[in-house]
Amino acid sequence: MAKQPMLKFVSVDRDMPEKRQAETRREDFDEIYAEYADAKAKEQASRCSQCGVPYCQTHCPLHNNIPDWLRLTATGRLEEAYQMSQATNTFPEICGRICPQDRLCEGNCVIEQSGHGTVTIGSVEKYITDTAWENGWVKPAAPAVERPESVGIIGGGPGGLAAADMLRQAGIQVTVYDRYDRAGGLLTYGIPGFKLEKDVVMRRIQQLKDGGVEFVMDCDVDADIFATIQAEHDAVIIATGVYKSRDLQMPGSGAQGIEKAIDFLVASNRKSFGDAVEDYDNGRLSADGKRVVVIGGGDTAMDCVRTSIREGAVSVKCLYRRDRANMPGSQREVANAEEEGVVFEWLSAPKGFTDDNGKVSGVMVQKMRLGAPDASGRQAPEVIEGADYVEEADLVIKALGFEPEDMQTMFGKPELAVTRWGTIKAQFTTGETEIPGVYAVGDIVRGASLVVWAIKDGRDCAEAILKKLNAPAAVAAE
Ligand SMILES: Cc1cc2nc3c(=O)[nH]c(=O)nc-3n(C[C@H](O)[C@H](O)[C@H](O)COP(=O)(O)OP(=O)(O)OC[C@H]3O[C@@H](n4cnc5c(N)ncnc54)[C@H](O)[C@@H]3O)c2cc1C
Ligand code: SF4
Repeated sequence: MAKQPMLKFVSVDRDMPEKRQAETRREDFDEIYAEYADAKAKEQASRCSQCGVPYCQTHCPLHNNIPDWLRLTATGRLEEAYQMSQATNTFPEICGRICPQDRLCEGNCVIEQSGHGTVTIGSVEKYITDTAWENGWVKPAAPAVERPESVGIIGGGPGGLAAADMLRQAGIQVTVYDRYDRAGGLLTYGIPGFKLEKDVVMRRIQQLKDGGVEFVMDCDVDADIFATIQAEHDAVIIATGVYKSRDLQMPGSGAQGIEKAIDFLVASNRKSFGDAVEDYDNGRLSADGKRVVVIGGGDTAMDCVRTSIREGAVSVKCLYRRDRANMPGSQREVANAEEEGVVFEWLSAPKGFTDDNGKVSGVMVQKMRLGAPDASGRQAPEVIEGADYVEEADLVIKALGFEPEDMQTMFGKPELAVTRWGTIKAQFTTGETEIPGVYAVGDIVRGASLVVWAIKDGRDCAEAILKKLNAPAAVAAE
């Protein structure tokens, strides 16, 4: 009888790929997890219990066929595993690296609920596609038929690029317009290299270019350019993300040295590409030699504290007004940050800033406690009177979240319906807005969300456009 290759969770423990020591990873922007060796990937994949109703798949926004590609990996059929994985996910190696698996697929793995550690789904997904790249299995689009229709995509982040890939594979002419000089959106300029190395993103952009997607970079689309794009293409997809930083208006908030998280992260990511960045090179956006205080408790704040450590900060503190259990950021990232030397000041909120001749010198902190739950059921923070103190700082980074820009004004389209939060109103299954032929996907529809949801939206929208154009999906050349 053939040996059972799966269900090894009883005899094999969960084992993540090796994590680099904090002392060495503090020194560079390289990813912190190594790759599985082949035998280890097979071993970890073989722990899957092959559930009849796989909750991991249900809770993956892309409904990846996880149990099947785990089985194919465990049995050494890696090329088939890759084909299956990429059939539902445009960028599996990116999701494998940066999805919050603990809240999605792995958080719903049944074997964990029976007391065993979850299957390391994200790490296996990354391993499969990294191996596919090494072996030349990842190919640019090669449509069998070139179609005359064209689609213009505004925004080259994961949402726009996922749509671009699917449309191009079906032979549609695709042009991506982006205000930055490199495509990738937050994959390129937001998320730091220690979570997602830049060459992983750049090889995907090159693959899209090789498959015939046109990129028009340094193109900040305004009302005039939008009208031109709309006239030139059969459909337009808005995939512009959310970039307006939430701000703090309080005494001293105009002091020099109080910066927005996105400016800080873009500067750091640009330096990783070797770019000259004036505001980094003149010290303004660099943490080197400074006492850094980051305000916020989300993933952006986690990226800022860990970037500050790598840039050579003297000390890095993170202020968050709730406690550890109630922070929005990933617990895995908090643990990584603590290992790297970040100090978290829970239940601490800013009430103003001190300065020295206009340069920030500290954050006036008020201590909080969690009170009664608010309308959303979350315990609201309350001030503890008389417990204020000053946290000394040379650089303060505000990581308080993002909101949409004014889209109607930006594109000169008052008829582009938006929600009360300013996000674009679009059908969740197709991305259709209230303007015929104009679609929207990703963060600009959902508000600040996740890469995997942007990919899902981009794919769904491409499918809807193909249906409208009566074009069959992905007709590959022989
Ligand atoms: C610091 C940070 C860390 C994050 N970490 C994670 C993580 O670990 N895991 C995860 O899943 N998600 C993470 N996210 C969220 C994730 O990056 C986003 O949800 C995702 O990138 C949204 O994709 P998108 O395509 O909608 O928009 P974006 O990635 O924001 O791309 C939008 C693109 O549109 C362009 N654009 C905007 N306006 C215009 C215009 N007028 N003209 C031309 N181009 C324009 C921008 O230049 C950009 O390239 C993080 C976000 C941040 C800020
Ligand atoms: S895409 Fe994200 S949620 Fe889905 S299987 Fe991969 S890591 Fe899990």
